[in-house]
Amino acid sequence: MTAAVPTSTRAAVLRDFDQPLTIEEVPVPDLEPGALLIRVDCATVCGTDVHIQRGRLPAARLPLVAGHESTGTVIATNGRDRDAADRSVGIGDRIVFSYPWCGKCYWCTIARQPTLCESSRMYGWGPMTEGPGLTGTFSEIVYVRPDCQILRVPADLDPAVVASTTCALRSVMHGYERLTQSGPLLASDTVVVLGSGAVGLYASAVARRSGAANVVVFGAPEDRLDIGLAWGADRVADVTATTPEERRDIVLDLTAGRGADVVLDCAGPVAAFEEAMDLARRGGRVVEIGIGTTDAGTIHPYYLNIKMISVVGSVSGAIHHYHQALRFVESNGRHFDFTRLTTGGFSLDDVNQALAGVESQAHIKPHIQPSGL
Ligand SMILES: [Zn+2]
Ligand SMILES: [Zn+2]
Repeated sequence: MTAAVPTSTRAAVLRDFDQPLTIEEVPVPDLEPGALLIRVDCATVCGTDVHIQRGRLPAARLPLVAGHESTGTVIATNGRDRDAADRSVGIGDRIVFSYPWCGKCYWCTIARQPTLCESSRMYGWGPMTEGPGLTGTFSEIVYVRPDCQILRVPADLDPAVVASTTCALRSVMHGYERLTQSGPLLASDTVVVLGSGAVGLYASAVARRSGAANVVVFGAPEDRLDIGLAWGADRVADVTATTPEERRDIVLDLTAGRGADVVLDCAGPVAAFEEAMDLARRGGRVVEIGIGTTDAGTIHPYYLNIKMISVVGSVSGAIHHYHQALRFVESNGRHFDFTRLTTGGFSLDDVNQALAGVESQAHIKPHIQPSGL
C-alpha cells in the first residue's frame, strides 16, 4: 500500500438507460489483498458501451461506472508485484487488466473456457452499488480486482492503441484461437472479414500477417474500408452500396467459384452471420465474433450438412489473448498504422460526445484521457 491514495475520483456514471452519463465523484474502495489502483491513461469506447447505455443488454445493472477498455498507471497495490507473464509490476508501471474470471469454477478450470465464467463481473456492466463499485474505465481511477489478471505494457506503445487491444484485438485473438483448433490458417486461404469496425480491421490485419492468400473486408463507411486497403486487404466492398449477391460475386471471383475458406463475422447484425454462411465455401469455416444481441435469425441446417461448414464462436478473451494482442501491436507497427483506429482524444467531461461518435460511426475507437494527459 502507498500513502496519499485519493479517497474519491471523477467517473462517468450511468443511472438511467437511454440517458447521458453523468460525471460524479465516486469513492475509491479500500484495496483488498491483491488489488491495485490505476490512474487511467487512456480509455477507449466500444459499441458495447453504447448498447449498455441504450439499455439493449439485459445483463447490465444500474447504476454503473461505464467503460471496459483502458490502460493505466499503477498508483497503489496491495501485495501484487508480478504480472501474468511473471514480470515485476509496481507503482508507476503502465498495465492492462482482464475481466475478473474467477479461476475456480467449472468453466475456468475443467472446461478451460474462462470467458464463460459465471462468477465474473465484467467492467462497465455494474452495478456500482455491489462490491468495489469503481469497476468501469471511464474514470480517473479504476479499481483492479484481485481476480483480474494484469499485464505490464511497454512504455513506448501508444496508450490509445493499447486500450483498443483490451477488447477488440483480444477478442480477435480468441476468435483465431477457436478457428485454429480445427486446423491452421493456410497460405492458400481466402479470408473474408465482415465488418470494418476495430474488430474487423484488426481481424483483417491478423489474417494478412498470418499469410492468407487473399484478405477481403466487407463493411462501411468508406473511410474504414480505406484503412482495410491500407492494411493490405485485396478487396473491400461497402455494404451500404452493394448487394449480398454482388459481394458473393467478389468472393467467388477470387476463389475460382468455390467461396471463402474462412469467414470471420465481426459485423454485429444477425444478417451478417447468414451472409457469412453463404460466403463460405463447401467445407469452409465460419467464426462468429460480432453478434452482440440476442435477436433471432434464420440459418438453414443445409449449411452444416450439405455444405459441411464448421462454425465456431468466441466471446471476450482470457489473459493470454490480451498478451497476444499486445504482442501483435508491438511487433507489427511497421506493417500497420494502428493509430488510424483511435480517434478523438476526449476529456472525461466529453464522454457522451465520444459515445455518440461511436453510434453515428463518426469515430471507430474514440479515446478518452480521463486524467487529462
Ligand atoms: Zn469493448
Ligand atoms: Zn470462473
